[in-house]
Amino acid sequence: MYFQNPVFIPGPTNMPEILRKAVDMPTLDHRSSLFGEILHPALNGVKKVLKSKTAEIFVFPSTGTGGWETALTNTLSAGDKVLAARNGMFSHRWIDMCTRHGLDMTIVETPWGQGVPADRYEEILTADKSHQIKVVLATHNETATGVLSNIAAVRKAMDAANHPALLYVDGVSSIGSMDFRMDDWGVDIAITGSQKGFMLPAGLAIVGFSPKAMATLETASLPRTFFDIRDMGKGYANNVYPYTPAVGLLNGLKMASEMLLNEGLENVFARHNRIAGGVRAAVDAWGLKLCAVSPDLYSDTVSAICTPDGFNATDIVTHAADKYDVAFGVGLGEVAGKVFRIGHLGSLTDVMALSGIATAEMCMVDLGLDVQLGSGVAAAQEHYRTS
Ligand SMILES: *Cc1c(COP(=O)(O)O)cnc(C)c1O
Repeated sequence: MYFQNPVFIPGPTNMPEILRKAVDMPTLDHRSSLFGEILHPALNGVKKVLKSKTAEIFVFPSTGTGGWETALTNTLSAGDKVLAARNGMFSHRWIDMCTRHGLDMTIVETPWGQGVPADRYEEILTADKSHQIKVVLATHNETATGVLSNIAAVRKAMDAANHPALLYVDGVSSIGSMDFRMDDWGVDIAITGSQKGFMLPAGLAIVGFSPKAMATLETASLPRTFFDIRDMGKGYANNVYPYTPAVGLLNGLKMASEMLLNEGLENVFARHNRIAGGVRAAVDAWGLKLCAVSPDLYSDTVSAICTPDGFNATDIVTHAADKYDVAFGVGLGEVAGKVFRIGHLGSLTDVMALSGIATAEMCMVDLGLDVQLGSGVAAAQEHYRTS
């Protein structure tokens, strides 16, 4: 392929040229001191992106899913009680992983399109007088529905219940794109991957452990070898890995965190909010609705857009790929065929977003939806001109 459009899937995201180059490096001896000069800045950069002073950062050759497994297996034992909400495909998969590890799940079934129900968490935790629940899970940004949950509210609910459970947050599609405050929110394990906010190829699981989470390692008895952070920690102390590190990706991670910190995290978040605002203005102009049920839940990294009843939303995605060579996200699980998704995170500008909006609009008109060519683009243009 000689020409390349930006992608509008919510990960993997578009890669800036500078990161592609950072990842593409000659082989170096990962047991030499050169490796430490990549590893430690990468770990420190991630820590800053997580807004943590005290977290220990671990990076595995894996993906976000491996980050979930790292969190669970290092800190829990079979039969331990875990509280989670299911409000989309990613929270569902995390729950499935817990179940397969023999954890005892309390699941709050939550309509897809809604956020993590902090009030229900508070009731359940308050009722758990003997503190059987060890861990509370929250998916910060449900990538399947474009729903951003309020993690500060989850922390507040835990504190109001005076409950000592640990809080693990899936930030795979929020960290590095939307505000994430590991320390302020009392997050005990934060999880992400390399291919979303960090704008790199897939291949790294990135996790931050709070001191409270670190204190559980010796009592946790779930089997772990590859993901044992004790081995990883010992390696880091000597500038090495317990096995062969993904050196190029780690070099990319060092550079990606530098880029985010140089732009300024608050500026990165403002850019995502502005770009998302243009997409939302377009959706409104098309007369369509988001899957997220209220504005406080709108995600700045992905919009899941509901199409009219009787129309297969996946046709938009297929048509965009076939006719315009542009990638959008399909609906997953319960909302398959009902929504299509525009990913707007990572390396993206207003102008790039306009091309995605224009393409979605062409597809909808091609497929006979009652949408005016230019309506969404004009609404987004107005948004970008004035914000
Ligand atoms: C992408 C994503 C994952 C899965 O990450 P992989 O890197 O594909 O394993 C998990 N949670 C959320 C919220 C995601 O967006």
